[in-house]
Formats: sequence, C-alpha cells, structure tokens
Amino acid sequence: MSGTVTTGNYSRADAWKDSLNSFMHPFAIIALILILARVFTELWLSRLNRHHVYANQNEVPPVFREVMDESTYRRSIDYTLVKNRFGNIVNVFDAVVLIAVLFSGLLPWSFGKFSASVGTSVAAMAAFLFLVGIALSIPGLPFEWYAQFKIEERFGFNTSTMKMWIVDRLKGLLLAVVFGYPLLVLVLKLIEWTGAKWWLWAAAVVVAFQLFVLLIAPVIIMPLFNKFTPLREGTLRDRLFALARRTSFPTRSIEVMDGSKRSRHSNAFFTGFGRFRKIVLFDTLIAQLSEPELESVLAHEIGHYKKRHVVKLVGASTAGIVIAFAVIAWLARQQWFYQSFGFEYRMGFAAANVVPAMMLFALLAGTITFWVSPFVHVWSRRFEYDADAFAGETMGEPQSLIQALRKLSQKNLSNLTPHPLYSTFYYSHPTLLEREHALRLTA
Ligand SMILES: [Zn+2]
Repeated sequence: MSGTVTTGNYSRADAWKDSLNSFMHPFAIIALILILARVFTELWLSRLNRHHVYANQNEVPPVFREVMDESTYRRSIDYTLVKNRFGNIVNVFDAVVLIAVLFSGLLPWSFGKFSASVGTSVAAMAAFLFLVGIALSIPGLPFEWYAQFKIEERFGFNTSTMKMWIVDRLKGLLLAVVFGYPLLVLVLKLIEWTGAKWWLWAAAVVVAFQLFVLLIAPVIIMPLFNKFTPLREGTLRDRLFALARRTSFPTRSIEVMDGSKRSRHSNAFFTGFGRFRKIVLFDTLIAQLSEPELESVLAHEIGHYKKRHVVKLVGASTAGIVIAFAVIAWLARQQWFYQSFGFEYRMGFAAANVVPAMMLFALLAGTITFWVSPFVHVWSRRFEYDADAFAGETMGEPQSLIQALRKLSQKNLSNLTPHPLYSTFYYSHPTLLEREHALRLTA
C-alpha cells in the first residue's frame, strides 16, 4: 500500500493502524503487553493466594495444630493479608513507573541532553547508566520505608530506626560508587577495546567481579551493616563444632550476627568460600531455638556446602550473565529495538551506541525472568530438600529440624497455607508441610 491517501480503500482500520504505528512501534506494543501480562499475572496470583488464606482462616488446619496456636495463626493470617495488599500496590506502582519511563520519551531525551552536555566518553556513559539506576530506585523508597516502619512495625518485627534505615541506604550508595561505577567503566571500555566479541569479555569480567564480591562480602561488605562476633564458649559452641567435625566441614569460626538490630525475623546462612567462608547464625535465631534445633539448622547449612550447592548456584548465575550480555550485544545491533523506544540507532562498537540497549534490557529483563522464576524455584527447592535430608541423616533423626522449621514459621508468622501456584512463582523454599513430609520419608 502506498503512503499517499488518495483512494477510497484507505479504511478507518488503516488510519488507526497508521496512527498507532507513528505513536508506538510494534515492538513497543509487545513490550507493553509483556509488562501488562506480568503485572496482571502477579495480581491474579496474589488474589488466588488471598482466597486460599480466606478459605483456611476460620480455624487452624488440623495439620498445623502443633505449629501455631489460635492467636498466632490469626496474626499470621493478618500479616499475610496486609503484605498481600501492599504487594499489589507495589506491583501496580512499579508497572506504572516502568511504562511511564519507557514510553514517555524520558530516556532518549535525558540520554540526548546528557551526551550533549557531558559527552559520550566511557566515563560519561558509565555515569549516565549509574545515575539512571539511582534515579529509578528513588520512587520505590517510600514503599520500602512503609514496609519497614508501618507493616513490620505493626506486627512487632521492626527494631530498626529511621536513622539506621537512612544510613543503610547511604552505605549501599557508597558501595555502588566504589564497586559498581568502576565495573561499569570497565565493561564499557571493553566495547571499545575488543569490538564484536565485547560481550564475552564483559561477561567474563562481571563473573570475576561476582566471585570477588562473594569472596570479600563476609570480610568487607557485611561488617559494614552488622556486627559479627564468634559464638561464645559453652555447650552450644561445643555441640556445633562437634557437628562440624563429624561432617568433616572445615570451619574456623561460627559467628553470631546482630540481626536483632534491624528486625526480629530470624535466619541462618553460610557465605563466602575458601578461607573467608563463614557460618552465620542470627542472634534472633539463637534466642528462639533450642540447642538440638540450632544444631539441625547448622547441619542443613553444611548440607548446602557438602552437596556443592554454592558451586552450582555460581555456575547458574555465570550462565545467566553470559546470556544477558549476548542478548544486550544482539539488541545493540537492532535498529528496530532502538527506534521502538525513541533512540537513534548508530552502528559501531562505542559505549554510547550500546548504553541504550543495556538500559532497556535492564528495564525489560524482569518481564521475561518472571516467567522463568518457577523453573528456578523447582531447582532451588530441590537444594533445600537435599540439605534437609543431609541434616536428617547427620542428626540421626528428623525431629530436631522439623521442630526448628515449625518454630521459625511460628516466630516469622509465615503463611502456612499458600496457594500452590503462588508458591510455585514466589517460593524458593518448599512449604513447611512439604519439608516435614519429605523429612519424615527420609528418616
Ligand atoms: Zn537452605
């Protein structure tokens, strides 16, 4: 069909299509559909979950009678419902912000202004990406504040202060300036240094950086936020070190983290690798669990190590990073992709030609990874079952871990009855019931 409208064949539908085309490029429409599909699925899953909770709200389901008493159960339902409604608001808000940022022309406009005044050097382009990242994190701050000081506060979990909350964010910003910005500069430099294969080099650098962070996090990053003290002498310490010896898990120290400084939620984790490896128990966890229960939790963490889960996770994230850079490099060569979001397309391996693709990829990646999360969770849940089984074997009985998991559900007011489809999308761990069932089978 020719461009000039002289014949009567030019229908109203054609006119609509033409105006839509000038208004929005076809891929922009696809991107919009992806964003909307995600947010509507999130709202639908949240609704399913809410109704699943309503269906069980009148009395504690028989299987959970030993886990929670009537009043704790009631509070866990309130907590779940409050978080559910708040989550809906956040999800809708995020989608609205994303749509506004992508389709208002704000990005190409600010990119144009910035490169005109600051230039298109690698340092300038890295600064642009960095500033966009910071700017985009600002709209979410009031919601983070509300979650901590209104919701967590209301259910008695918050122990943080406004000052601590602000200082935490400033420390995060400082870390981003010290580590993030130089990494961005290096990645953009690689585009100019290595040409067509830049994405492979960039992926290699980011993977190496990730390993570096994993290595230094326990010694440099985490102490910025919390105090770590070696578990003090006594029966608990003896018991835990005996467990470490029994499982030939070489550990120098088991440390206690002052998690209670921010929240009453409890946790245990194990971090780092090589000689910086650290087993960390929250002080809140030590206060909540008995010694055999703590031993079983540590056995679970050692299980993750023994079954090489950390190595596997690093492997998976390496694959993710390589794929991400391959996609960015491909998108950076697609004229239609740039035009869809109002960017001018230029050929050649220069930072300024790739930066729009990086930015758009970062904004849009979540609309795809959301659909991948159930598969990732199948995998991470298998790790949890493995670590649980290891703990059961090491302890010679499943009861300590079962008791620990029950207490944790109780103290953290966990939702005992999530909708199966909801947990498929959002839960990296199996539910309490699933874990108990599996533990009893292996025993
Ligand atoms: Zn685990």
